Amino acid sequence: MFYQGITKAEIINVSNRLPVKIGKKIEKSTGGLVTAFEDIRDHYNIKWVGWSGSVINDQEKRDVLCKQLESENCIPVFLTKKEVSEYYHLFSNSSLWPLLHYFIAYSSYEQDWFNTYQNVNQKFAEVVAEMAQENGIVWVHDFHLMLFPKILKEMRPDLKIGFFLHTPFPSCDVFRCHPSRNELLLGLLGADLIGFHTFGYLRHFRSTILRILGIDSEIDAIQHQDRKISIGVFPIGISWKSFDKTMHSAKYESCLKRYGKNYEGKKVVLSVERLDYTKGIPEKLKAIDRYLAAHPDMHEKVVFVLIAIPSREKVECNRAIEEQVVKQISYINGKYSTINNIPVQFIFKSIKKPDLCALYSIADAALVTPLCDGMNLVAKEYIACQKDKAGVLILSEFAGAAQELFNAIIINPYDTDIFVQRIHEAISLSQENAQAMIKSMKENVIENSSENWARKFLESLTDVNNDSDFQITTDCLSTEDRHKLDRATNVVFFLDYDGTLREFENNPDTAYPTNEIFDILNHITSKKGREIYIISGRCKEDLENWFSGFNCTLIAEHGFFWKYVKDEKWQSFKEQVDLSWKREIFKILKHYALSTPGSFIEDKIASVVWHFRNSDPEFGESKARLLVDELSAMTAKMPIIVQHGKKIVEVCSQYINKGESLKYVLSNGSCDVIVCAGDDSTDEHMFQVDNSKVISIKIGKGETSAKYRFTTPSKFRNLLRELASTSG
Ligand code: UDP
Repeated sequence: MFYQGITKAEIINVSNRLPVKIGKKIEKSTGGLVTAFEDIRDHYNIKWVGWSGSVINDQEKRDVLCKQLESENCIPVFLTKKEVSEYYHLFSNSSLWPLLHYFIAYSSYEQDWFNTYQNVNQKFAEVVAEMAQENGIVWVHDFHLMLFPKILKEMRPDLKIGFFLHTPFPSCDVFRCHPSRNELLLGLLGADLIGFHTFGYLRHFRSTILRILGIDSEIDAIQHQDRKISIGVFPIGISWKSFDKTMHSAKYESCLKRYGKNYEGKKVVLSVERLDYTKGIPEKLKAIDRYLAAHPDMHEKVVFVLIAIPSREKVECNRAIEEQVVKQISYINGKYSTINNIPVQFIFKSIKKPDLCALYSIADAALVTPLCDGMNLVAKEYIACQKDKAGVLILSEFAGAAQELFNAIIINPYDTDIFVQRIHEAISLSQENAQAMIKSMKENVIENSSENWARKFLESLTDVNNDSDFQITTDCLSTEDRHKLDRATNVVFFLDYDGTLREFENNPDTAYPTNEIFDILNHITSKKGREIYIISGRCKEDLENWFSGFNCTLIAEHGFFWKYVKDEKWQSFKEQVDLSWKREIFKILKHYALSTPGSFIEDKIASVVWHFRNSDPEFGESKARLLVDELSAMTAKMPIIVQHGKKIVEVCSQYINKGESLKYVLSNGSCDVIVCAGDDSTDEHMFQVDNSKVISIKIGKGETSAKYRFTTPSKFRNLLRELASTSG
């Protein structure tokens, strides 16, 4: 009998660096991301694309390396010296890293660096576009490759692209300082799934795309152009398997014995981190200094073991921190050392895993106190290595890990007095209490391993866009309605303008019709039996200026004015409609305009509009809701209707609306079909007209009574273009 194995799904994993160290031999790296992917190899066929880590200009050498890396399933991206400098050291490490960690003053920027960053992102995307299978899955990691998703999506729309940010995503007020903020955000929006470590980072991202790009979102999804982008929280974990294996090794046991003896009779307080300004080492040393000052009885009984791994030494701020840390340590040791004890033991290099695990296991407390950290795996590793004797974790509230490890002692590393107090409490805590604190956290750390993190992300990425519920778009008409239109002798197109025929602009005065729009409309009206009405909330002057040379009927202010363009005069409901309510309504709107920065009033003839498109989007929306409530209470005594449209609240006469205009055309014309389209709540009046001749189309998001939905004005224009060429 033949056994047929299950084909594993191919994943192309993309990160700045390949998961290997390339020296004389090629060795696997040991970072968290690498082990996460090792642990899921049973389920996925993983290929890895990344920079090889050195500059290789010679083509022959490049070819040899490619061949060598093939067996590791690695595909290198080769970078020049200039690219390494500008893309990696400067743009990624000196521009983005500080900003993403709230160190705005440390962030520098040059346009050239960004250009190189863009070129390198393009290089990565070209490699992936070339090799990816049709409809394949690509997972790209971190801030080095923020432009990659958009570039790849444009080259290969068939691919499912996931992006995971391993750093924090800062608040909008910080991110907006970056000169390339728009490009970076739009770059990310090329992905189908964007993942963050915490809900806080996701919340900041949503608020940033809203404020910088004006893109609204749901808690788990963004509708951008004609695509749905999922967003989610996926806190990374550690590879429990690998730590468990180390803790069952002879090397670990021997380290445990040696260190146990070494620190016998002393309390060990451990710190492990890269030497980076985000890690808060000077603040920690300040607290250690104060602790020792306040507890002379501990000078011979406590050792603060500080392991700092040299990191990004080209970054000037890190060199400055290094100098400061060395000074602080020698000052503390000078002050508090005795013949029997040196209170701060500083190890400025990487240590081996069995040593690290043994130190984690014997330390009575760990100080994981960064000023800002995407997740912080050291906190989770420390918890994982607690065995019979439990230690106490002091954890900064500014580490992503604090969202999960809430049973740790959580501190604000800037609050030195509390920091000192917590060190004292941690060292004095009973074993029973320490065990209780560790227990639930350890379960969490084992359960949420890096393996499960990768699996969950990939499952979500695979499922993206498979949920038919969210497919609110149709972007086409039914065959039946297409036939109806093709066969009809007389068709009226009853079309809203802004957001329907034409995309919105920040400044409405610049949203004039493009040549493409004129072409389509001319094409339609050149056919016999095809008539166009442009119906808008705009004033008559705007419509007349734009469409005067064109064969159509214009309806302004939602139906208050109308005119066949070639007629001389506008007709209106001036005589029939009572507009005496305008004064009082104007006063209320004025109050909102004054109390909402950026908002203003437009006083039209038959309506008054409060615009808040230049205000803070959330503040504007909440004030709009209040205003609508206040105005709705007045509809009982005034003949008005209140409409909450896109970035506006409009009050007009209850006798005037687009639905009434549509009814008028239906009753007076001899058309067979009316295609009526709009994007806004004011257009719903048309959609609610119950008549079998009407084919109603909503453009964009939101609840609607329309029969069809087209995602964007551009998709709708495609339909009009098709109708112009096939019908009539
Ligand atoms: N680590 C290391 N060498 C050492 C000590 C620790 O590579 O000598 C590892 C540690 O085990 C952890 C990682 O460095 O997995 C640090 O990750 P973390 O998330 O805490 O911070 P990051 O370096 O990502 O900012």
